[in-house]
Amino acid sequence: MAYDPQNVFAKILRGEIPSAKVLETDGALAFLDIGPVNKGHVLVIPKVEAATLSELPDDASAHVGALLPRLCRAVREATGAEGLNVIVNHGEVAGQTVHHVHWHIIPRFRGDAVRWPWP
Ligand code: 5GP
Repeated sequence: MAYDPQNVFAKILRGEIPSAKVLETDGALAFLDIGPVNKGHVLVIPKVEAATLSELPDDASAHVGALLPRLCRAVREATGAEGLNVIVNHGEVAGQTVHHVHWHIIPRFRGDAVRWPWP
């Protein structure tokens, strides 16, 4: 799908709108989700223009991949989560609403109210 440089994550990357940063590298940025489905819900995005995972170049994908284990540890440490969901919604039909590829890292606690798939 065509990449819209006015999407909110592109604006976050350009510093045009604020975000609560969690971790940042040359190739990827992790920040708190503005509408968390659970305490400590984090998003991680590559610093390239790709609307979906299918459109992400291998080298950009590697930047996110390298960050994921560290992020999972940091989120578990910060929230005390017993488990995590690491999820990519690919395309509108699959629930993607922001068309800059992103990974959700969602802390999970036994008995919590998170339901999958969420609306
Ligand atoms: P999607 O449904 O595309 O997989 O997920 C998009 C996510 O982006 C949602 O969980 C939503 O809460 C989050 N989101 C949308 N706009 C903003 C924003 O301006 N800032 C932040 N931090 N998160 C956002």
